[in-house]
Amino acid sequence: MKNRQKRIEQARAWNQANPERRRAISKAWDERNPGAAQARRARRAQRERDAPGHHTRAEWLALLSAHHWTCAYCNANLTRPCKDHIIPLSRGGSHDISNILPACRRCNSSKRDRDVAEFIAQLAAPPPSAPSTTPS
Ligand SMILES: [Zn+2]
Repeated sequence: MKNRQKRIEQARAWNQANPERRRAISKAWDERNPGAAQARRARRAQRERDAPGHHTRAEWLALLSAHHWTCAYCNANLTRPCKDHIIPLSRGGSHDISNILPACRRCNSSKRDRDVAEFIAQLAAPPPSAPSTTPS
């Protein structure tokens, strides 16, 4: 059991140090497993339905407009905006509009289940093993 935890932590560290390889592996896996991505989206939708709070499409569009259709974290222009939960649903966050920020896919997927304060702290201090290339 202890060993399992250690391996999970090692995998997590590798994923953080190799975001591009991680995405390529995930993409390849999705292609080999049709239906898995759809199942993942269905689980996510179910989590949102189960969460306290609710918002309308109009509220979401108003929020996007207030942020000028840019990512709340990196200011990238959003062509395919993601709803980022300030307090993650996995940590009991609400699906109310007050708990949501527009984010690009990159920030949304790298934030995952951390809360905003943790994510911003991590953005400010990238891991030493991170590549020095500027994000595209
Ligand atoms: Zn972003």
